[in-house]
Amino acid sequence: MPGDAPRVRFAPSPTGYFHVGSARTALFNWLVARQSGGTFVLRIEDTDAERNREEWVDGIFSAMHWLSMDPDEGPYRQSLRTERYHQAIDALWDAGCFYACGCTHDEVDARNRAAGILTPGYDGFCRSRGLPRGDGTALRFRMPDEGITTVHDVIRGAVEFPCSAMDDFVAVKANGAPLFVLANVVDDIDMAITHVIRGEDLLPTTPKGILLWEALISLGWTTDGSAGAAGAPAPGLPLFAHLPMLVNEQRKKLSKRRDPVAVESYRDQGYLPEAFVNYLGLLGWSPPGEDEIFTVDQMAEWFRLEDVNHSPAFFDVAKLTHMNGEYIRAMPLDTFIEACRPWVTGDGAPWPAASFDEAAFAALAPLVQERVAVLGEVPAMVDFLFLDEPDIDEDSWAKAVAGDEVAGTILSGAIVGYEGLAGDWNRDALHAATLAVGEAVGRKLGKAQAPIRVAVTGRRVGPPLFEALEVLGPERTLARLRAALGRAGAAAGGESSP
Ligand code: GLU
Repeated sequence: MPGDAPRVRFAPSPTGYFHVGSARTALFNWLVARQSGGTFVLRIEDTDAERNREEWVDGIFSAMHWLSMDPDEGPYRQSLRTERYHQAIDALWDAGCFYACGCTHDEVDARNRAAGILTPGYDGFCRSRGLPRGDGTALRFRMPDEGITTVHDVIRGAVEFPCSAMDDFVAVKANGAPLFVLANVVDDIDMAITHVIRGEDLLPTTPKGILLWEALISLGWTTDGSAGAAGAPAPGLPLFAHLPMLVNEQRKKLSKRRDPVAVESYRDQGYLPEAFVNYLGLLGWSPPGEDEIFTVDQMAEWFRLEDVNHSPAFFDVAKLTHMNGEYIRAMPLDTFIEACRPWVTGDGAPWPAASFDEAAFAALAPLVQERVAVLGEVPAMVDFLFLDEPDIDEDSWAKAVAGDEVAGTILSGAIVGYEGLAGDWNRDALHAATLAVGEAVGRKLGKAQAPIRVAVTGRRVGPPLFEALEVLGPERTLARLRAALGRAGAAAGGESSP
């Protein structure tokens, strides 16, 4: 449909968690639609009943929604379009494009071995046997004897596949079910898809799809009305763009088992969708200029499919996390506080809901915002405010209290010093008092703070100490220092007793 706005589609198979590679594919499709007034179609390729699960379908919808990439059209579901695939199968069979094949894998392998052929592949045994359709026979596509099928790929240029190097591939299984490539092509035709933008792993399948597409067009195949006019002639071939593979730091293809690829897990750890989308945009594409931080609107303005790189793209979790931290720090404070809500209130929080104190959290929020890379780190920064007792990290305790011979002196000095602050409980006074405690034992402020911080917050890292103590208040601070002193003393006494 020359001149018409693009119709792109994202066509995931629901076989597992929503993969970052799928999210990148969805984004690049979505960008093409957004920048050209096109239509972004979602199609769930759920023909593999054994591997598909309804919860994975829900995962696709919710991840796309989280990334603000809801489809303009669909979701279509292949499982509901079986009849349409059978119409195509009948047409292709009647035209002689298919032949029936009763060979098993083992039989093909045995014949290949006997003929000294080491590469796997079909030997054309059933090509001219004239077997009838049905009775457990698969249907193979009759590959032209010669010629070249060229995939004109926007990213990779012309990629040629000689027909002689391609098998008579199975298009319909012995149980009558269409294979992926057939359903995929029938759908792309019916949905009037103009651009097929997908992962490069599918490039080897593309010439088969093109041959099926051309065969259907030559038969006068008409569309089913999924995209409007039913009975319209099949549209011409779409534009193809095969996106570069994503690799890990060892330059190995990302694997579901080895690498953190589930988009859901990033959402659950508190990555921001805007940062995540920004980072996805860098996987195979780069913006004009140096700045790697940009909005999705800028991306839609700048993105060109032909600028996508064809070499593998490194999915760098550390870079994504760093970028997320930058997004967090750029948030207005109110927005940050609001974004933290699921982590600090209700079921997500590690303290009872009733213990949460909005004002205390708001008082520390600016300091927390400076120090977290993902929102999931927020509770551990402020839990000392909302738990009755600090959640003491034993490693921190061992290093900063048990393993430090002057820790007891620092803690008791702090108790005395802080008690003396009375009505003057603020960060500056706490700072001065702590400085004095440190001086008395020949410690600089940083080192003198460590046992106090562990006693009060439970950890050696966290928001700046004096602001934290100011918000926590004198009563709870002193009670915690006394408890820690007691524990340290008991341990020391225990060790030295015979
Ligand atoms: N359903 C295929 C997959 O998830 C993608 C098909 C396509 O984009 O053409 O790998």
